[in-house]
Amino acid sequence: MSLTQLARTRVQQLTPYQSARRIGGQGHVWLNANEAADSGQFSLNCERLNRYPECQPPQVIERYAAYAGLAPEQVLVSRGGDEGIELLIRTFCEPGRDSILICPPTYGMYAISAETNGVNVVEVPLTDSRQPDFDAIIARLGEVKLVFLCSPNNPTGDLVDRAGLLRLLNAAKGRALVVVDEAYIEFCPEHSQADLLAEFDELVIIRTLSKAFGLAGIRCGFTLACPEVIGLLLKVIAPYPVPDPVAQIAAQALSEEGLLLMRQRVDEINQLKAELAEELLQHPQVNEVFAPNGNYLLVRFTPGSDMFARMSRAGIILRDFASRPGLADCIRITIGSRAEMDAVRDVLQKEQ
Ligand SMILES: *Cc1c(COP(=O)(O)O)cnc(C)c1O
Repeated sequence: MSLTQLARTRVQQLTPYQSARRIGGQGHVWLNANEAADSGQFSLNCERLNRYPECQPPQVIERYAAYAGLAPEQVLVSRGGDEGIELLIRTFCEPGRDSILICPPTYGMYAISAETNGVNVVEVPLTDSRQPDFDAIIARLGEVKLVFLCSPNNPTGDLVDRAGLLRLLNAAKGRALVVVDEAYIEFCPEHSQADLLAEFDELVIIRTLSKAFGLAGIRCGFTLACPEVIGLLLKVIAPYPVPDPVAQIAAQALSEEGLLLMRQRVDEINQLKAELAEELLQHPQVNEVFAPNGNYLLVRFTPGSDMFARMSRAGIILRDFASRPGLADCIRITIGSRAEMDAVRDVLQKEQ
């Protein structure tokens, strides 16, 4: 018997998440993972590295709560937003019986985390206007424990309609949790749904330091919810999920100065994004530029334009979404530094 056959049947059959890092590529301009072009400077105190860290480092929790306008009891810190997603599934879904609901095309980790944990995935595709199909979701509420919405949606950039979300939250009362993934909300903070946490205990919000804060490398994310839900997640989370150096850096990123730097980075990225969008819209081989609400643009090129390969030949690594339902000829471009955007522009302007 091979050791593979010793593994859980489910794991033997599993295809791991094709993260941007895993897919990789050859090049020097990395615009495929929605990372920031810089991270900023941080200092580390190594005097306490012999000690286990706090499960929920108080300064990180307090500062994130203040930043989000919430009470510390409404905040959980974890190993990236991805761990928050996984914890929700492990806390609320019985393997082999319960289901989550997703609205594709969307972020891949909801389905991957569910499948890894033996939890079913119900798909209710986005409508033609790329909104969650709220009527169809509400009709299936009895079958699912968690509904995952993403706003801005990765990769399409669309924001969840607030009136629809309110309708869903009212219908979900006492029946299911509605998770709104706001990994990119710093790029359009006026569209956060976090204020609804005051009204709806069924609402959960996922956040991260990986995008606007420029800290994908430290793996730090947040789950925002009512104290009862946070308490349940704390029963399941590992005893020491946040390494001490991560907590130190996160606390600095969430200081007044850190927040100022983050907002400057956001302004810069939004400016570069607007410039690139304008350029793309005038390009003869561009069919559509999707909603520009994150730190990326999803672009539909004309069939056969071969833009992904042309960028790749110039050393620019992008993310190809062409094989996803409804996203034929679509490529996602992360907004990087000005120099990186110039490199993209050079390829766009070259003779086809
Ligand atoms: C990047 C991302 C996350 C979380 O990323 P972490 O690095 O695990 O914090 C969550 N949701 C979406 C939609 C993302 O794009």
